[in-house]
Amino acid sequence: MSLTEVLTLYPMAFVASALVLGLIVGSFLNVLVWRLPKMLERDWRAQALEVLGLAPEPPSAPYNLMQPHSQCPHCAQPIRPWENIPLLSYLWLRGRCAHCKAGISPRYPLTELACGLISALVAWHFGFGWPAGLLLVLSWGLLAMSLIDADHQLLPDVLVLPLLWLGLIVNSFGLLASLGDALWGAVLGYLFLWSVFWLFKLLTGKDGMGHGDFKLLALLGAWGGWQILPLTLLLSSLVGAILGTVMLRLRQEKTSTPIPFGPFLTIAGWIAMLWGGQITDFYLQFVGFQ
Ligand SMILES: [Zn+2]
Repeated sequence: MSLTEVLTLYPMAFVASALVLGLIVGSFLNVLVWRLPKMLERDWRAQALEVLGLAPEPPSAPYNLMQPHSQCPHCAQPIRPWENIPLLSYLWLRGRCAHCKAGISPRYPLTELACGLISALVAWHFGFGWPAGLLLVLSWGLLAMSLIDADHQLLPDVLVLPLLWLGLIVNSFGLLASLGDALWGAVLGYLFLWSVFWLFKLLTGKDGMGHGDFKLLALLGAWGGWQILPLTLLLSSLVGAILGTVMLRLRQEKTSTPIPFGPFLTIAGWIAMLWGGQITDFYLQFVGFQ
C-alpha cells in the first residue's frame, strides 16, 4: 500500500502526520516571525540611505532565514539540533537554555503547539487531498502574519501578496470557491476595508487601520470567495471587541494605543473558511428563517 493510500484510508494517520508536520513548521515560523521584520527593516534602511544620497552602512554579516544559525539570545551559545526539536526540547530542557540556564520564552513552544493543532484540525476537516494541503499552506501563512502584525503592526507584502495570488490560482481549479467568487472576494474584501478606512479618516482625521488589512481581507476573499466576507468581518469585529477590551484593561493604556486588526481578521477568516456554512445555517435556524 502506498503512502497516499494509507493517508486516504486512515484519516487519523493523516491527522497525526499533519500534527507532526505542523509542529516542525511552527518551529520554522518562530524563526520567520522573528527575522523577517528585521530583514525588511535592514532593507528599508539601505533603500532610504540610497534615496537620500547618504553613504551606505558598512557591510555586515549576512542576516536571513538561514544565517546566522539559531543561538541563545542570552549567552549566544549555538542551539544544537537535539535542542531544536519542536515542543519536546522545551519540555526536556524545562524551558531553560542548556548552556546558561536562562529562561526561554514559552511563546516559542506555544507557537509550535498552535501550528501543530491548527494543522491537525485542517487535516481532520478536509481529509487527505489537495484542499487540505493548500489550506495547510494558507494556515501557516496566516499564523506567521498574525504574529508579525501583533508584534510590529505590520503585514508584510512579501507574505500577503503571494498568498493572495495563490488563492486565485487555487480557485482557478475551483478547489474552495469558483474563480468568479474568489475574484470578487478579493476585490470586495479590499474595497470594503479601503472604504471604511477613508470614511473613518474623513470623519476623525485619524488612520483607523493599516493598508495591510485591506490586502489581508482581499487574500481571505481570494481563498474563500466573497461569501465568507460578511461572516469574517462580523467575527473579527466581535473577537476584536472582546480581546481588545481585555488587552486594554490589562495594559491600562489609553484607547489611542493601536491594536493590530490583522490577527482578528485572520482568525475570523480562517473560521469562516472552515465552518462558515455551518455557522450561517445555525444562525438562520436560530433566528427562525429555516
Ligand atoms: Zn544560553
